[in-house]
Amino acid sequence: MPLSEFDLIDRFFKNALRDGPEVRCGIGDDAAVVTTPPGMDLVLTMDTLVAGIHFPATTSPEDIGYKALAVNLSDLAAMGAEPRWITMSLTLPQDPASWLEGFMAGFSILAEQYSLSLIGGDLAHGPLSITIQLHGVLPAGTAIYRSGARPGDRIYVSGTLGDAGLALGALDKRWSIDSKYQEEIFNRLNRPTPRIELGLALRGLATSAIDISDGLQADLDHILTASNTGAILNPDQLPLSDALRQLPADQALEIALTSGDDYELCFTLPAAVQEIEVKRLSAITPLHCIGAVFREAGMQWQRSDGSIFTPSGTGFRHF
Ligand code: ADP
Ligand code: MG
Repeated sequence: MPLSEFDLIDRFFKNALRDGPEVRCGIGDDAAVVTTPPGMDLVLTMDTLVAGIHFPATTSPEDIGYKALAVNLSDLAAMGAEPRWITMSLTLPQDPASWLEGFMAGFSILAEQYSLSLIGGDLAHGPLSITIQLHGVLPAGTAIYRSGARPGDRIYVSGTLGDAGLALGALDKRWSIDSKYQEEIFNRLNRPTPRIELGLALRGLATSAIDISDGLQADLDHILTASNTGAILNPDQLPLSDALRQLPADQALEIALTSGDDYELCFTLPAAVQEIEVKRLSAITPLHCIGAVFREAGMQWQRSDGSIFTPSGTGFRHF
């Protein structure tokens, strides 16, 4: 006999994670109750992953569980928030027990790493779709917004860009990846690392931040638009992995600029921030300065040799 909705909740969610001290009431009542620490702002984010759109239908339940939480953590990282509580709504096909087993295994890796509590959610029957809401906190008034970039600020990105796009292209047989890079690159697609520690360290330093989910070009544009500024950027400074550099240079650059799913942070620091501070941040996650904020709207791309570069694509868009 397939497990009932309540059996599934008891078996997979109720004791999946330990409730932290701020959880007055977790799973089991009509709603969850948490105490927010005094002097803190509550930061909320929600993301939906739909099979065939946000992940290829062949993705393992473990990877889906990991990624579903990672993408939400990445949004809190971009705000400078500390993650705390999860609510989750799942729409699942018939007989979901074995799928849930795998999903919760991947999900729990990150949840335990950040001592998160799963405090409630909903279950429905239908085509596979996962919605996670993550609740975080930060000292009142210290959130990092997209709108704070100022002319003269330096623009940084964490990690490397385009690796998830490289993996997706390999899945679609648009190119192949050298076997020595396979594992690393598929991990970048299926198990992105949310830059939580970097986000926390950016509080009080960064004037703006965003996580790169739709490609650098599209996401940096959100910062520039929200901040009423433009940017001068050097495509030669973009951090590309050795794996991505296996492709022709122009194609690699295009992928780094326009493919989504990187979950790196893009942020701005005032030029006055000391080199030693930047070094401290780079010790958390490698950083690259890719350009500077400019008072005139738009992005100008200028190569190290002075020549102008014109990117051709745009980022991922659903509509
Ligand atoms: P109600 O009918 O009152 O909305 P449900 O029967 O849907 O309550 O859920 C019972 C309990 O199980 C609630 O506390 C709810 O938050 C929790 N729950 C249901 N689905 C999930 C899920 N996917 N993840 C975590 N908790 C869940
Ligand atoms: Mg319900």
